Amino acid sequence: MSSTALLAGAPPQADAPPALAHVEPITTARALKGPFDYLLPEEMRGHVERGSTLVVPFAHRQLLGVVVGLAERSEVLEAKLLAPVRVLEPGIPVELLELAEWIAAEYCSTLARALALVLPPGATRRLSGRKRREVARPRHLAVGARGTARPELTDEQRAVLEPIVAALAARRPHERLLHGVTGSGKTEVYLRAAEAALAQGRGAIVLVPEIALTPQIVGRFIERFGETVAVLHSQLRPAARYAEWLRLRDGRARVCVGPRSAVFAPIEKLGLIVVDEEHDASYKHEGDPRYDARDVAAERAARSGAVLLLGSATPRPESVHRVGVSVLARRVDGRPLPAVEVLDMRGEGPSDGRQGLHPRTAQALADVRAARGKAIVLLNRRGWSNFLSCRSCGRVWSCPDCDVALVLHRRGGYVACHHCGHRERAPQRCGDCGSTSVARHGAGTERLQHDLAAVFDDGEFPVFRLDADTVAAGPAQAGGTVRGTADGGAGERGGVGELLRRFEQADCGVLIGTQMVAKGHDFPDVTLGVVLDADATLRFPDFRAEERTFALIAQLAGRAGRGSDGLVLVQTIAPAARAIVHAARHDSDGFVTGELERRRALAYPPFSHLIRIVCAAEQDAAARGAAAAVHAELGGGLLAGETRLLGPAPLFRLRGRERQVLVLKSSERRTAVAAVGAAVARVAGAREHAGVSFSVDVDPQ
Ligand code: ADP
Ligand code: ZN
Ligand code: ZN
Repeated sequence: MSSTALLAGAPPQADAPPALAHVEPITTARALKGPFDYLLPEEMRGHVERGSTLVVPFAHRQLLGVVVGLAERSEVLEAKLLAPVRVLEPGIPVELLELAEWIAAEYCSTLARALALVLPPGATRRLSGRKRREVARPRHLAVGARGTARPELTDEQRAVLEPIVAALAARRPHERLLHGVTGSGKTEVYLRAAEAALAQGRGAIVLVPEIALTPQIVGRFIERFGETVAVLHSQLRPAARYAEWLRLRDGRARVCVGPRSAVFAPIEKLGLIVVDEEHDASYKHEGDPRYDARDVAAERAARSGAVLLLGSATPRPESVHRVGVSVLARRVDGRPLPAVEVLDMRGEGPSDGRQGLHPRTAQALADVRAARGKAIVLLNRRGWSNFLSCRSCGRVWSCPDCDVALVLHRRGGYVACHHCGHRERAPQRCGDCGSTSVARHGAGTERLQHDLAAVFDDGEFPVFRLDADTVAAGPAQAGGTVRGTADGGAGERGGVGELLRRFEQADCGVLIGTQMVAKGHDFPDVTLGVVLDADATLRFPDFRAEERTFALIAQLAGRAGRGSDGLVLVQTIAPAARAIVHAARHDSDGFVTGELERRRALAYPPFSHLIRIVCAAEQDAAARGAAAAVHAELGGGLLAGETRLLGPAPLFRLRGRERQVLVLKSSERRTAVAAVGAAVARVAGAREHAGVSFSVDVDPQ
């Protein structure tokens, strides 16, 4: 390095800018732990700070690196140090660097992986350093944005806003949970809170579960604030996403709306973070680091002295327990919530021939069709049949790599594993006994669409389907007639927004789908909501099963049945289940109170912290051996506070790997995370456990 040679002999000057940069290279390798020192050439000194991004030489490659610290030059080592190749502009704000450091520790990950979350979109691809072309910013068309008027606030809204605006004015951190049903005016509260933050010269972040499913809220922010809103989401092309990121970074945009990753929007002087639909599971990131955007939002808000505003019609027990609750009890338009009827499916017999519908449901759908109205039907299971079996030998078609049954997708003519994506052609005969009699069990959304269309679609009453399959396949499978609709905006490629627009613009019809139909958007002219197999989610062995079931039913009930004569029907074989009974009464408070009591008794969150450790290996014995070793490491009385270690227990085989799970329940989060991190590192480093992969999930969802 010529610069190194040149500098080696020069005496250090007291007031000279730091010459040494501690750089964390951005790599996913867990073994590679930075930071590493680089010597800044003269022309970089003073221009490089914490958060600067550099291209650095590293083991015969060039890597992107983030400056995590600076130091005076160190004479001794200098001769050996390399110099960065170039500085990439712009770097990340120091605040986000520090947030990444927190995430790495909080979620048992590495700093490099945490930094990758806060880097500009596509940063690792821009190593070449070529200048980006200016990209036109994406257009976002909203479904059902209703007028630009800024309404007079209701008394309830005014009361809710007061402490928020006061906290903003005092520049003091403040957390608030806004509990209000769909249509109670929550979005208007978010808009006013953002307005107050902007008036102070501060910025705002608005998190939504998924942009494509929640175009209404995006549309309203753009209507209200225009160019100062930037939208960050995964369906934007990389160049468009980077353009939006830059607008935020240089302050041209001060409000960011987006899904969980928008919590890392590069906004300086942040005044407000809103988390809409805070109960939504999409806020948890399932890759490493397994961060929860709600907790990151709380941390970031606290660090910036900002207000955190969580909103939902079905708030999580954790949030109710932790955060002060404000209530919007009534819908703005004064309409009551729809009546909910629970339909007991026990004794209804095999559903074949009746599309799995209770007679009451079939009648209600027929009534909606007669009235040329709209209905939504939720069945949280996609595909045609859940599983196939041979009628003569009993063989069940299952995934070769996972211990789960394959789901039939009739239109594509294949069976698929919904866990790993494995696909094979739908069987005509049994490979074991040769029988051609293959039984199909259970119905998913594809079958339901087919069956309902056969009965109800008279050419003017279309049956639309919204699930992961139709979104991927486009209009051909989604059903209904394709009309001349607005395109999705230059940056939007997904089919969800398109499908929702078609259902909204249709004069009448049914929208069936998975939980996607219960999220975000709402359709004022839907008068009937139906939940089929409502207890399906209750059957998961998970302490959040009740919470999920309650939220799903209550959310659908809040979105469907908006008319004065709205009706919601819930089909179940567990009509007495607490989640279903409370959802039918629109009793969120009652549900949460009971749920918190249960969790306190069982020491589940929020009364403890859970850390889940999964050991996976091709051989069952290897997975078991590793899990036992982790168990032994953790069992040594190292843990403080009240701690229990559950397991190891087997999980079903996934992607060809046998799995064992351990769950640590602890009252002392930080100590427990550190202990688990150390234990897993020791076991993973041992040669006898080579070939075992370990995943650590803090606050698993
Ligand atoms: P939520 O976010 O709780 O579903 P919204 O904020 O979307 O509720 O409000 C529902 C509807 O009521 C929207 O059409 C909105 O424009 C309207 N709205 C909200 N607040 C008011 C108000 N104070 N006066 C009149 N209309 C309002
Ligand atoms: Zn057979
Ligand atoms: Zn599989």
